[in-house]
Amino acid sequence: MDIKQTDLLQTGFYINGSWLQNEKCYAVINPATNKKIADVASAGEQETSAAIDAATIAFKLWRKKTAKERSQVVRRWGELMMEHQHDLATIMTTEQGKPYAEALGEVGYAASFFEWFAEEGKRIYGETIPTHKPDSRILVTKEPIGVVGAITPWNFPLAMITRKAGPAIAAGCTMVLKPSEETPLSAMAMAVLAEKAGAPAGVFNVVSGNAAEIGGALMAAKSVRKISFTGSTRVGKLLMRQAADTVKKLSLELGGNAPFIVFDDADIDAAVQGAMASKFRNTGQTCVCVNRFYVQDSVYEQFTTKLAKAVSNLKVASGFEEGVTQGPLINALALEKVESHVQDAVANGGVVLVGGKNSPLGGNFYEPTVIANAHHAMRIASEETFGPVAACYRFSSEEEVLELANATESGLAAYFYSRDIGRVWRVAEGLESGIVGINEGIISTEVAPFGGVKESGLGREGSRYGIEDYVEVKYMLMGGI
Ligand code: ADP
Repeated sequence: MDIKQTDLLQTGFYINGSWLQNEKCYAVINPATNKKIADVASAGEQETSAAIDAATIAFKLWRKKTAKERSQVVRRWGELMMEHQHDLATIMTTEQGKPYAEALGEVGYAASFFEWFAEEGKRIYGETIPTHKPDSRILVTKEPIGVVGAITPWNFPLAMITRKAGPAIAAGCTMVLKPSEETPLSAMAMAVLAEKAGAPAGVFNVVSGNAAEIGGALMAAKSVRKISFTGSTRVGKLLMRQAADTVKKLSLELGGNAPFIVFDDADIDAAVQGAMASKFRNTGQTCVCVNRFYVQDSVYEQFTTKLAKAVSNLKVASGFEEGVTQGPLINALALEKVESHVQDAVANGGVVLVGGKNSPLGGNFYEPTVIANAHHAMRIASEETFGPVAACYRFSSEEEVLELANATESGLAAYFYSRDIGRVWRVAEGLESGIVGINEGIISTEVAPFGGVKESGLGREGSRYGIEDYVEVKYMLMGGI
């Protein structure tokens, strides 16, 4: 389908319930063709301040709605996403490149956060605490934090928005969203649907354009009480520094360097299946994608041979082609990083079992790759590749592999395959990461807490924990009773 035929295409920015344009524009590029899709109005400091003002005014009314009233808007927003799933998936594949089937999957995943948080929003319970003085009573309530600034990446153009907007808006906060400049059209489509769902003007605003200016305005504004960011560790650290001046609350979901361990007692076929799902989804461009495969000596040949065979069956093509499993990388910079990681690995003794070069399709396409004989002196061991390259390392003992797996500043996701119950407990508890997949390669779901330890971030998204990031605890002491 042509993106222009969708009902949801908007190229302005959305502030206080209105679509606004700007003479200054930037081009959104289709990563499969490197051709322009649309010119999008570019927002800066002034537009961001206007959006913050709108969200600040809207907060006063939105917080006073009943939880059920807010829930109805969030729920309807999710239903509308599903009613428009083909339009949303078309926009997503065009601007992000992922296979259409994956884009449709993401629409469902993204909408699930609205369903979930529409429910959770009704269950933000307080409590009473047995008093410390006979003539007084203690009450604890939870209140929405206020205006939330959300900054999102391009790899999941919808889900990274709903995972923040769902809990924030259900809890009574209002939001100014800055999506990635690579994928603003998906975010604009969400604003169209927010309005249709009945979100009052100012509750959900979207500005896209100059990242540093928009980010700077959000960080400087006193009325923005919380920032929720998903993206690189570099920008996350910058936001954390900037948040200090106004002491904003922060949720940060940053980079990962996920290990995937295959022990000698593992079901090797299941491990290969899990590896494929976890490494090659979204062409390796997710923050929970495996970055390091550790395989025990005695099963190393078996696992790497089977993995290479499975990888050779992947189909690299434009996201709209029938049967495609691997789309393009997001842009030329991403491609360069993948190329340089593979070159460095090969120069340091890595053996390419499959792939290892640019795709004959040209553009931003790269052949899915498996590299054997990987070791820790390679760049691929310490940097997140964010591309379709599986580097496989050997190990001999459980103690050794735990040391290796934890030898990173990141701590988002980790995976391992083993059928020994004692080992399962020891390794699951020993891994320094917020998420552990045990005999499973896909861990994302709206019902479970997603987030990292160490430099992978702060806070959790999804699940009942996800809404806690958007409320403040208030303690009331009632005396004179
Ligand atoms: P990636 O490398 O995955 O693109 P980034 O951290 O650069 O990760 O981007 C994630 C989000 O952060 C995007 O929306 C991007 O525009 C935004 N961003 C980049 N630089 C800044 C900045 N200085 N201030 C605020 N947001 C920024």
